[in-house]
This record gives sequence, structure tokens and C-alpha cells, in this order.
Amino acid sequence: GCGICVKKCPFNAISIVNVPDELEKQLVHRYGENMFKLYGLPVPKTGGVLGIIGKNGAGKTTSIKILSGQLKPNLGDYSSDPDWDRVVKAFKGSELQTYFSRIANNELKSVVKPQYIEAARRVLKGSVGDLLSKADERGLFKDVVDKLNLKNLLDRSVSELSGGELQKFLVAAVLLKNADAYFFDEPCSYLDVRERVRVADAIREFTNPSKNYVVVVEHDLMILDYISDNIVVIYGEPGVYGIASKPYGVRAGINHYLNGYLPAENMRIRPEAVRFRIQVAEKRFEESEYPVVKWERMIHQYPSSGFKLVVEEGEAYPGEVLGILGPNGVGKSTFIKLLSGELKPVEGSVLISVEKVSVKPQELSPKIFAEETVSQALRNASTEALNPASWLYNELVRKLRLNRMLDRRIEELSGGELQKVAVAVSLARDADLYLLDEPSAYLDVEERIVVARVIRRIIEEKKKTAVVVEHDLMLQNYISDKIVVFTGKPSVEGYASRTLSIREGFNTLLMNLSITVRKDSETGRPRINKPGSVLDREQKARGEYYIPD
Ligand code: ADP
Ligand code: ADP
Repeated sequence: GCGICVKKCPFNAISIVNVPDELEKQLVHRYGENMFKLYGLPVPKTGGVLGIIGKNGAGKTTSIKILSGQLKPNLGDYSSDPDWDRVVKAFKGSELQTYFSRIANNELKSVVKPQYIEAARRVLKGSVGDLLSKADERGLFKDVVDKLNLKNLLDRSVSELSGGELQKFLVAAVLLKNADAYFFDEPCSYLDVRERVRVADAIREFTNPSKNYVVVVEHDLMILDYISDNIVVIYGEPGVYGIASKPYGVRAGINHYLNGYLPAENMRIRPEAVRFRIQVAEKRFEESEYPVVKWERMIHQYPSSGFKLVVEEGEAYPGEVLGILGPNGVGKSTFIKLLSGELKPVEGSVLISVEKVSVKPQELSPKIFAEETVSQALRNASTEALNPASWLYNELVRKLRLNRMLDRRIEELSGGELQKVAVAVSLARDADLYLLDEPSAYLDVEERIVVARVIRRIIEEKKKTAVVVEHDLMLQNYISDKIVVFTGKPSVEGYASRTLSIREGFNTLLMNLSITVRKDSETGRPRINKPGSVLDREQKARGEYYIPD
């Protein structure tokens, strides 16, 4: 079916032609002939944060552009510039009528934290402190800087910020603006778990959702759940059309999305439900099997910067995925360099070291590739990757749906497409150890799961080891067999735990953050407990921070 209705469609075609008439009346915007169409809009309401969830290419950013007044909806008539009267009339009787008349009369001021942040580094000139004080229309500079822990960055030039630092800086700049509507398009990419929670808390604390409109798009479902009061699902055929659902309560909305069925619309948006496996039994290994990598307790210190890293002992077996949790700047890359022998520890040693390491860096930019097109990049990584008869092609190109992208120029890919190519290229290379740093950034929920499965299968097939840094906890739980928790003071010192089971690892991390997580009874997904709630206090008293049995 085309996904528009649950009824059996006589045309049985994935086509915009079959959109029922009643839906056609809700056409809000069309970019041009045979171009993407958006039906309906998420309706922002004061009194709570509205979360938007949906596949990439379904129209989330388009919705934000329209609701923030950057894009005037053309109601499907792309040949002429529609006047505001017509737009306002089209939404007669809905809450969007008042909303759009305020936009039309310049009475609604909006600010947007854009999805892709990399461009800001080139465009914004000056130091973090100067730019934030210029942005500060509300006299909240000190509060926002404190809350987002930006104090140490105030003298730094924006061009020198890491991805996570840039993300927090942009969120802060948006919060300091005096607006009626605040939009955050994927505010968590490049942030660790503590920072994600901090950003979520800051958005709730400083946007005043009881008076203002606050809209958040986020694919880390644990954070989206924590930040939102209501959820709108945007579904449809990515790149072809998108339809905004009615608003649901936050728990129900996320569960309906995962279940693939929207009851108020009587609409199946996916043939099957998405489920996250929550606990994994420890893998059993043949006695004859040797670890791919094994290390004793080690200490390393850089003479020039003085940064010191202590690593507890550990090992990883063929086919195992080692998940890394913890902040940036506490020695994850240093740890990998120790395992490959590039760095020698001052104490302890690596007992079985790896020779070749293949890396997917955290920050995405076309510049991480020397090649011009997707197929060139894949071919240079492995000659087998483009051979349709090979298992590598099946896993990487087919499963990640890169088939249709092969001839595209890397420079023209969207963030999500670039991420999938970067993961595929790093996994295609021949190596003993694969380091994948935040493979989820810019991917939607379903793409995250596909990428997680691909990582696991390639590593199992190659009988090698992957180290995956991932801050989306639902996903990290899905990818990894074991966990190493990193703690410490960024740029000063770091500590890496021994290899822990998933439960031990998550418990250790969450205890450090003083956050407890329960399990949703319907879908099994992890949900953050409200600080101080009965469950939060009970779980803390028992020391069960992550999903008690
Ligand atoms: P999402 O944010 O959900 O990933 P977007 O709203 O960015 O989706 O995009 C929805 C669709 O609209 C995509 O297929 C995209 O290619 C298309 N699109 C976005 N902007 C334009 C534009 N200016 N002209 C034509 N098509 C566009
Ligand atoms: P992570 O991967 O967790 O972000 P890194 O291992 O890259 O952390 O770096 C940890 C810290 O070590 C950095 O903050 C930096 O100060 C220091 N560091 C990294 N590489 C070097 C180096 N070659 N010389 C001196 N100090 C370094």
C-alpha cells in the first residue's frame, strides 16, 4: 500500500496520486511540481513542549520552517506567492488560524536551533562570550551559561569549538533570545548523556512553555520522552509526502510511533513494530577462541598536555561490540591508540594488540572523504563493497539503502545520508578494530536500528571487534555486548572502567549522573524517572539505576 490508509488500496501503489480527497484539502505546502508535499502541520500549543517524531525526509524541518515563519505555506499552489489572507483562511477553525495571523502581522517572533550545526562555525565570527552576550535579550546570560556549563568556553572562538560545544553554544544562543516560539531541530547530536539531559532541562526551564510555543525534533527517544509533553508523528513516504498526525500525549505518542500504528487516525505507518532489546545475555565464547584485543590495567600520560588516563583491564572477543559511555575529552581516542600500539603506556601493557584500526569520526563533514562520489569512497575502502554478489555489498549497500546514492556527490548528501556512507566506508575497510564514534547523529529511529544491526553483523561476520561510542542509550543498549564507562575531567584526566555487562555499565553511568531509568510496560523502552519521584527515590535506594528486573 501507499501508507496513506489502512484500507486495501485498489491501486496498491506508492504514489501521491492516491491521496484521498479529504487529505488533499489539508495540503499545506508543496515545493514544486512533482516535489515533496506536506499535509497538515504539527499544531504548537502553549502549556507544554511539543515533540515531533518521524522519518528523515518526512517533512519535520519543512514544518519548523513554516511554523517559524521562514517559509510561507503555499497550500499546494507553488506557481504563485500566496497572500497571508488566504493562508489564514485555510486554517479557519483550527488553532493555526490565530497562529498564522500572528505570523502574518509580524506579531510572532520565532527562533530556531537548526538541525545541522557545522555551518555555524564558518558563519559566526567571534568568541562564545561575546556572541552570547549579544544574543542575550532576556538578561539570562549567567543563568543559561551556568546551566549549560559553558563557563570555560566563553573566551573560545566559535570556529574552534568541538561539535558538542558548538551544539550547546547554539542552544544557549536560542534560549537567550526573546521570542514567542522556540524551535529546536535535533538539539542532542554530539552531546553525551549528561549534556543531553542538561539541554533538555535548560529548554524546559528557560523557554517558559506555559506562555510560549516550544517545539523539539529529536530522534533520541529517551530524551524526546523526557523533554516533551505532547507528540506529533510526521509519517508518509520520505521525499514524496508527509502527513502530520494529531497530537498525542508523550508516552502514547512515542509508543504509537514504535508500534507503527496511529489509533486516532486509524493509520498503520509501518508493517511491524519497532522493539529494542533491553538486556542481552553475555555472549558465550568457545574455549579455543582468543580475544581480538586484551589489555592489563594501564596508565598513560601525555607529557605536553599532562592529560592522564587510567584504564582498567579488559578484553574483547571476535564478533564483539564494546560500547563506550561517557563524556568527550576523557581519553577515548587515547584508549584506542593504546590498543593499537600507537601510544605506549607508562604503566601496564597491551597483551594482545590490534594492528589496523578503522575509524568513523564523530563529526560529519564531506571533508572526511578524499573522494568525490559515494561509489568512489566505497571502492577505495574495499573492492568487494561494490560487488553485488558479495555479502559486504548486501550488508552495507543494500541494507543501508546506499544503492540509489552511489553516483551522488558526497558534498550534496544530507546529514543522515553522509552518516550512513561514513559508517559503511569505515566498516568496509579491512581492520582488526573498528571505532565508530556516534554513528546515530542525524539518523532517524529506524535508520538507527538498521545501522546498529549492520554494525553487529559485519563485526560478527568479519570476526573482529568494534568499539562504539554512542550516547543514545536505547541504541547503545541495542548495539553493544559489553560496556566500558569513561569518567573524569575533560582535558585533565580520564578513567576507563573494566569491561562491564550492559546492566553494570548502564548502572555505573546513570549512578554517576544521578538519573534513574524505568521500563515502559507496553514497549519495554527505557524512560527517565522524574527526579525526586517515588520510583526515582526507590530505585536510588536500591542502587538500581537502570531498569530494575
Ligand atoms: P525532515 O526534516 O523530516 O528530514 P525535510 O522537511 O527536511 O524533512 O524535507 C522533506 C522533503 O522535502 C525532502 O525530500 C527534501 O528533499 C524536500 N525539500 C526540502 N526543502 C526543499 C526545497 N527547498 N525544495 C525542494 N524540496 C525540498
Ligand atoms: P576523547 O576521545 O574522549 O574525546 P582524547 O583521547 O582525544 O579524548 O583526548 C583526551 C585529552 O587528551 C584531550 O582533552 C587532550 O587534552 C589530550 N590529548 C589528546 N591528544 C594529545 C596529544 N597528542 N598530546 C597531548 N595531549 C593530548
